Amino acid sequence: MHDLIEQAASDLVASNHAIVLTGAGISTESGVPDFRGPKGIWTTNKQAEAQAYQRYERFLNDPKAYWEEMLGTVGSGSDFYRQMREVAPNPGHHAIARLEQMGIVKWAITQNVDGLHEKAGSQNVMHYHGTVEKLRCLSCGSRFGIGEFSLEKLPPLCRCGRPLKYDVVHFQEPIPSDIMDAAEEEAMKCDLMLVCGTSAVVYPFAALPAMARSRGRGQSGVKIIEVNAEPTPLTHQGISDYLIQGKTGEVLPVVVDEVNKLMGQRRKHE
Ligand SMILES: [Zn+2]
Repeated sequence: MHDLIEQAASDLVASNHAIVLTGAGISTESGVPDFRGPKGIWTTNKQAEAQAYQRYERFLNDPKAYWEEMLGTVGSGSDFYRQMREVAPNPGHHAIARLEQMGIVKWAITQNVDGLHEKAGSQNVMHYHGTVEKLRCLSCGSRFGIGEFSLEKLPPLCRCGRPLKYDVVHFQEPIPSDIMDAAEEEAMKCDLMLVCGTSAVVYPFAALPAMARSRGRGQSGVKIIEVNAEPTPLTHQGISDYLIQGKTGEVLPVVVDEVNKLMGQRRKHE
């Protein structure tokens, strides 16, 4: 495995526009509960799962009821998003932030809604499925920090007068078009894509690596590297160039160490 880590470091140093894609795998290492695992929220609570499927429609029909449910004031809600805002980033998040600070990684595009990349120090983060840190207006697209609202009077209202929902993209809800466009633009622009902690099965996010791969390999093409506990469809279909199999919180810090060594050697030669 160490050979592959050295390879990844060397590919990162050689890249001009690297981006990172992240999924649930990187956050479960911080203790963010998953949904569909053996002890997942929906595996153990079918009512919560049923509610999750109706959430977007609930907001459209009755924004006040949506907020009461989200904040746990009625039904089986438990203000899960508030709990999520209290989780801390792990070495995997810090490694990605470090690669951005070194000028190597230009964007992190994440499926996670927890905001841990920012907490680790990443500046350029796209939240493909929204974030629990923000509220969003479906009417005008504005986003606001959750701290800007007391949430005593529900629903919170946008400057345009329409009710706000969590920025988090619920089932049945379309991916916000600004994020979708920006992510596709990066997939078409990057020369290296580091795919971390995602099984790459949730669409349209999972289409981003294939989109990058369609631009070919080699000098003019894209290098796609996976870091994941298990092989994924990207591995099996040959979309990624290689997989570093392991926990992101263990692999990524070693990759950063190797990148540091290579950059140090470079400086010596200059
Ligand atoms: Zn608005």
